[in-house]
Amino acid sequence: MESGMKILVQKFGGTSVANLECMKKVREKVQAGLNKGYKMVVVLSARSGETNRLLALASEWSSTPDPAECDSLVSTGEQVSIALFTMLLKDAGIRARSLLAWQIPIITDDDHGNARIKSIDSQHLRGYLDEYDVLVVAGFQGCTESQRITTLGRGGSDTSAVALAAALGSVECEIYTDVDGVYTTDPNICSSARKMDRVAYEEMLEMASMGAKVLHIRSVEFAKKYKVPVRVRSTFSDDPGTLVTQEDSSMEAVLVSGIAYDKDQARVTLHDLPDVPGVAAAIFGPLSEKGVLVDMIVQNTSLDGHTDMTFTISRKDLKQTLAIMEEVKERTGATDVVSDVNVAKVSAIGVGMRNHSGVAARAFSALTQEGINILMISTSEIKITILIQEKYVELAVRILHDTFGLDWDIN
Ligand code: ADP
Ligand code: ASP
Ligand code: MG
Repeated sequence: MESGMKILVQKFGGTSVANLECMKKVREKVQAGLNKGYKMVVVLSARSGETNRLLALASEWSSTPDPAECDSLVSTGEQVSIALFTMLLKDAGIRARSLLAWQIPIITDDDHGNARIKSIDSQHLRGYLDEYDVLVVAGFQGCTESQRITTLGRGGSDTSAVALAAALGSVECEIYTDVDGVYTTDPNICSSARKMDRVAYEEMLEMASMGAKVLHIRSVEFAKKYKVPVRVRSTFSDDPGTLVTQEDSSMEAVLVSGIAYDKDQARVTLHDLPDVPGVAAAIFGPLSEKGVLVDMIVQNTSLDGHTDMTFTISRKDLKQTLAIMEEVKERTGATDVVSDVNVAKVSAIGVGMRNHSGVAARAFSALTQEGINILMISTSEIKITILIQEKYVELAVRILHDTFGLDWDIN
């Protein structure tokens, strides 16, 4: 093993590797790292649209695609990217090779489609870096101890990159995408969104979990846990991007730093449940056993010993949830189960909320003034989340962005 080796991990998303022209831009970014004396570990996503195409193929073949075979199929998108890109590097005389997860290996649990990384053989990887200047690694995939291929969940290449950066002690993990940093909200739906120079891990965690897909949530968890500085930047510009890092006092001065939204929401209500101990467990126990993640939960006040329970889930879990709720209805004596998929959630996030009150009230009144009905509310120390009708989501994002003055450049 070479001592004092400086390693830089870079990750490029689907739009950055979409075609030959884009891949040549990627090669320039990798070359710039080499010119600075780094050994490079480059993590690639599948070319844009490819993972969707493969998932659609699986559904065409089977109404309930086998999860392990589905992972074996969808992980091929990244294999195509790394092989093509490594050819380009070699054509430029760069000592490079491609690596699939099992060749490293990146070991995960066996939760197919949403696997968690358990370990990475960084010694083995460093060994390769003695021989090669660039290792091109397939993002999004892992391998179980029993040699089955897994995937890490949609957007999971970010997590592959940050985990590799943590394992290899990379100075920073650069995440290259189609926007030049993390904005106060999605720049593709709000033209006054402002790029942030820095954002705290905590805020980025909330933004990612509330729907800002610019970073995969687990990548932020890894970055925070192992203190890996993450820089989000564009493949198509030289902008320094946004540094995701530890919180400091200047960040606390800002009340709300970002607005996120998530359209992947479905709302389910059980009416007239008996208001007795054990009812919540009877509903949420079977859901958690089936791996359905419940997001917001509201229980109405009791009327004549009966109550309503409303909760939200991802739309993909609705069919399964309704089947489970029919059984729960029979068991508990609830009168009916209703659901609605035309809902979305909007969240305001900021570490500054810890020290200020009244943020929620300002958000509610701004939305009410525009006639947007609030369906559900949930709050945490640094976040307020509001469920609304989906058709209002873009308007709500812009209203909240405006209400909290996010288009003002305070730096
Ligand atoms: P990649 O394929 O490179 O991983 P993604 O599509 O997963 O790219 O993530 C980038 C997209 O995230 C942007 O195009 C943008 O629409 C969206 N996005 C959502 N919220 C934000 C935000 N707060 N800042 C920047 N981009 C955001
Ligand atoms: N290709 C995978 C996806 O589309 C992983 C990623 O792009 O990060 O979700
Ligand atoms: Mg992504």
